[in-house]
Amino acid sequence: MYVCACCSRSLAPSLCLSGQRALVGVVVLAFLLFADAQLVVMATPAVDRVRSVIRSLASKTNDLLQDFDGTILYAKLVAEDLEKDHHAPSVKELEEATLDIITISNKLRNHSKALETLSMTYAPSIEVTDFKKLLKNYVKELDEESPFDSEKHPFIKQFREAVWKVHHAGEPMPGQEQEEIVVMAGSQALPNTSCPLSGKPVEQLEDPVRSQRCRHIYDRDAVLNYVRSHAMRNRRHKNSNPCKCAAAGCPGILVEEQLVCDSSLKIEIREYVLRQQSSNIDTVADCTYLEEDDDTPLKSHAPR
Ligand SMILES: [Zn+2]
Repeated sequence: MYVCACCSRSLAPSLCLSGQRALVGVVVLAFLLFADAQLVVMATPAVDRVRSVIRSLASKTNDLLQDFDGTILYAKLVAEDLEKDHHAPSVKELEEATLDIITISNKLRNHSKALETLSMTYAPSIEVTDFKKLLKNYVKELDEESPFDSEKHPFIKQFREAVWKVHHAGEPMPGQEQEEIVVMAGSQALPNTSCPLSGKPVEQLEDPVRSQRCRHIYDRDAVLNYVRSHAMRNRRHKNSNPCKCAAAGCPGILVEEQLVCDSSLKIEIREYVLRQQSSNIDTVADCTYLEEDDDTPLKSHAPR
């Protein structure tokens, strides 16, 4: 004779029905807890590895994006030269190629963002993860969040403006809005060519940032140190003085949250360097011509 463990009824030789169910439930729960614990112990390094691989893919995509940005920049500089030589059809071809690169670049940028999201959200499950589907969904969300129009992209506007300026310097482009002129003006000339605090030339800054308010460019470490020291002094003296921009004559105010390295800063610095190099080559070439011209009269007066 047996006594049921759950209802104390006498029965033989096993538990009553509800007791059996309870026992099965306990066994299943124990198994799941054990399996889950095993999954956590076994899976954590594997999850880290998967996330690391995804991050590495995103990083490689970002390298490719930088190459795309560089190509767009070179296309603009070549287009300026072609425009100077009145090769309008070639300029048009370059403009169309630039539009294509901008479109592909946007797709790649969303792909990279989706990879970054996936690297943060990936978690193992009992079912096999469909990475392709997950990635596709993230990209779709990004596409829907910000519909893309290559015609409105700053790079194509800068391209067209640079070409226009070749023969119309100082004249506004037809159809260009006043606020666009202000934005585009910054595309070819940097507001400062060295950090106002560290004195390092902008092209040597490993981590450049710029104030979103006055657009001055800084060495990140130097400016963060400057802004934080100012905040500490304010706290010590119970002041609320704004932190003034360190660039000579700038009335701007520095705010830590508004010191950023936006997507175009590095490419603007790159453009500045290329234009400097190009200008140096032109200067050397001009000097060579001058020297040759200077020599000519001497040669003509030389005894034969
Ligand atoms: Zn400033």
